[in-house]
Amino acid sequence: MSFFDKFKTGVAEAGNKAKMVVEVNRLKMQNSSKQNEVNEQYQAIGKLVYAAAEQGSWPLPLEEFAAPIERIVQLRMEIEQNLLQIANLSDMKVCRSCGSSVPVNVRFCSSCGSTFEISVDPIPVEESGEDNNGETNAGLLPEAKSEEETS
Ligand SMILES: [Zn+2]
Repeated sequence: MSFFDKFKTGVAEAGNKAKMVVEVNRLKMQNSSKQNEVNEQYQAIGKLVYAAAEQGSWPLPLEEFAAPIERIVQLRMEIEQNLLQIANLSDMKVCRSCGSSVPVNVRFCSSCGSTFEISVDPIPVEESGEDNNGETNAGLLPEAKSEEETS
């Protein structure tokens, strides 16, 4: 590899890092506008309920709410997808309760304390974990096991 090729590789890596940051920011902005739209849909539902209550036509058939509810479901799925992508790109994940960014491997949000499901760090498959009663394993996997088995 020539010097120039190495130089190009280095530039490409720096460029990828910058691209990652741009992409993460783009996804975050996308999510905040999606969240705004979710809130608008909630408001639309609220208006329907209010108008129905005012005119004495409550309860409304569920079909009246089908469009906004469908839209909310769709948007929430898209938000979820973006959060996953952000986590993949940045080694950070976004707390669903409070919106803070925290390192991808933590179990609790440092801002609000809510618990994350652990989806990263796949645990390597054990050869004969099934028929052990737990005690034989305790010494082998102190970190992975200790939290599940503390009662
Ligand atoms: Zn939080």
